[in-house]
Amino acid sequence: MEDITVIWQDMLSILEVEVHSLGFDVWIKPLRPVKVEDGILVLCAPSDGAKSEVLARYLPLLKRALREVEGAPSGITIVSEDEIAQKTEEKQKEQSQPSERTTPRSENPLNPQYNFADFVVGKCNRMAYETALAVAENPGTLYNPLFIYGDVGLGKTHIMQAIGNDLRLSRPNMKMLYVSTDTFINEFIASIRTANGINNQSFRDKYRNLDLLMIDDVQFLSKKPSTQEEVFHTFEALKGAGKQMVFASDRRPQDIPDLDSRVRSRFASSMVVDVQPPDLETRIAILQKKAQKAKKNIDFDELAFIAEHVTSNIREMEGVLTKVMFLSKLYERKVDRAICQEALKDYRVQECDEITVDEIVDCTCKYFNAQKADVVGKKKNKEVVVPRQIAIYLINEFMNIPLTTIGEYFGGREHTTVMHARDKISAMVSSDPKTKTAVNDIKAMILRK
Ligand code: ADP
Ligand code: MG
Repeated sequence: MEDITVIWQDMLSILEVEVHSLGFDVWIKPLRPVKVEDGILVLCAPSDGAKSEVLARYLPLLKRALREVEGAPSGITIVSEDEIAQKTEEKQKEQSQPSERTTPRSENPLNPQYNFADFVVGKCNRMAYETALAVAENPGTLYNPLFIYGDVGLGKTHIMQAIGNDLRLSRPNMKMLYVSTDTFINEFIASIRTANGINNQSFRDKYRNLDLLMIDDVQFLSKKPSTQEEVFHTFEALKGAGKQMVFASDRRPQDIPDLDSRVRSRFASSMVVDVQPPDLETRIAILQKKAQKAKKNIDFDELAFIAEHVTSNIREMEGVLTKVMFLSKLYERKVDRAICQEALKDYRVQECDEITVDEIVDCTCKYFNAQKADVVGKKKNKEVVVPRQIAIYLINEFMNIPLTTIGEYFGGREHTTVMHARDKISAMVSSDPKTKTAVNDIKAMILRK
């Protein structure tokens, strides 16, 4: 087997060509090759957030690059520096006091950066912020459970973890757990398997003996009936004992498809609060805070320029800021307009991939012989609704832009409406040949342009 750093260097040179440069600098380059274990290459991301970003966006590309390198391991896994640090800490703890059995820290991977102090409050997220703060002050009372929903990259995970981080300091004895829905599902399935169908007591002990349970991205419970059943019983147990629960989702409880009605009604009867895309002022304030934390002195005008150009996803905006700081260091000069423009250029390429929303809508209108003003407007007759939903589906397929932005384009519709349109057409493409033909024909029109 080749030296691990050589393998990683080879992969980097492949990835540098394949990934747009913003993504490469921000997410790929900071990865650190750790070891090869059982034929799997372990890469370490600088934070938990970076880890999920890399998993969500770049795993297929990483795997492809790995396959192209001769003598490379057969698989890849991504861990975070936090996880490695926690593992080491636990090992040391185990060695020094083998009898102590508290909840291991690895099961509670709160990102310390996600705290209330670093969360910028604006009209878009005030409700969520205030209720979360109230939960942190008085868990298990007024807002229990708390259900936070909104489009990706708008701070749901940040607020949720801020509750945990705050309570960890104010009530260090509190038993708390933050899990992604994926983890919950995987652990539940594993618990059934190891229990040989007898019972899954250890799983129950773990989730029902908590003072605070935070489950992220509960939209992924969709179509998982047995896990939903378990969520329901966990819910009842914790609620009955007056323990606090917090959920986050990319949509409202009533918009999560294929969800057990008992779970849905429990979610819906929570304190349901949303986070909306931030306005310009809030976006600037967020950038100021991030620059300040990174100890970078960037002129207000430049921060405002970035905030004007990255409108709806805070995570993307952070990516642009990271790139700006990176370029400033590289060129050894203060952040100026040229640097911002360079960073934004990559962001736009990534955003549009040369196809524009207008082109997609124009082609769809042409195919259906519909008026564009109607399709992006308020009318609800079938002649405009079908082209509208298909255009939304295609925009989603071709472009990497948030649903909220698509909603704005279509006359200020809610991101959940956009989601519904996308899911509906997606289902029809498999079940209805006419829709399938229409979608394929319009796709061909767009690609010919
Ligand atoms: P979501 O869970 O909604 O997809 P996250 O909570 O992961 O979004 O937020 C994405 C990034 O944006 C995180 O780095 C987070 O710290 C940052 N962020 C989101 N909202 C705010 C805010 N109001 N103030 C400061 N940072 C924010
Ligand atoms: Mg999240």
